[in-house]
Amino acid sequence: MTAYLQHKDLANTQIDPARAAQIRDGVLCTLDRLHEAEQKAGRPEGSVTLLAATKTRDVGEIAAALAAGITTIGENRPQEIQIKAPVLAHLVESDPELKAPDLHLIGQLQKNKINKVLPYATTIESVDSLQEAQNIASRVPEHAPNTTIRLFLEVNESGEESKSGCDPHAAYDEALKIAALAEETHAIELAGLMTIGAHVDDEARVRAGFAALRELGEKIRQSGEPGTKNCTRLSMGMTEDMPLAVEEGSTQVRVGTGIFGPRAFI
Ligand SMILES: *Cc1c(COP(=O)(O)O)cnc(C)c1O
Repeated sequence: MTAYLQHKDLANTQIDPARAAQIRDGVLCTLDRLHEAEQKAGRPEGSVTLLAATKTRDVGEIAAALAAGITTIGENRPQEIQIKAPVLAHLVESDPELKAPDLHLIGQLQKNKINKVLPYATTIESVDSLQEAQNIASRVPEHAPNTTIRLFLEVNESGEESKSGCDPHAAYDEALKIAALAEETHAIELAGLMTIGAHVDDEARVRAGFAALRELGEKIRQSGEPGTKNCTRLSMGMTEDMPLAVEEGSTQVRVGTGIFGPRAFI
């Protein structure tokens, strides 16, 4: 699955001008689509954050996206974060035109990889259980001292077996338990919910999954239970289903292909 890691130098910082221009166009085009969707949904321009999904992209490609206005990036694999994040941090420090991005983990996190991610990520969007939240919280003091890591509960709203995330029927209870833990430790915060849209042509079904995530967020906050008041973010929508997600209340879309073009691997 990660064979491409051996074929592509993810730490590469060089980029030819034509490729950089292509990425800039991808960012601007995606922002146009996003603003159009916001307008159509009657929401203020800029109310939805554009996260660039940077899996398989090298540091030079990521820097081109930052130069074009991206402020938040999402990585899927701890191994890629470990390779790219230190090089990117160095590049950003040496270039006054670039600002350090907010780095989110949007893919699965195994227990033995938590320590690798914590020094770099502000947010982990793929948490699917209280157990995982506990594992993360217990490692924050050592590996990301004096920070609060934002957690999103990932919910498998589409019910597709290939997808990760918490069962929607269990999600409310799980979210309240994570919120209670967050209230106790301050190492973590329950900051929102994440879902991957159903991979089907039926627009109504895709939309229903997004609406269910929004309603779950409202229910969590309205419970008034400890640690639930910051559960305000909804990470939903990708290149294909971004407009639907924005209409259903997304606060952050995660776009890879729309910015960088097709992935050569995975
Ligand atoms: C790759 C990925 C995205 C972006 O997908 P595109 O279809 O390329 O926009 C979004 N979210 C997650 C979790 C991903 O793995």
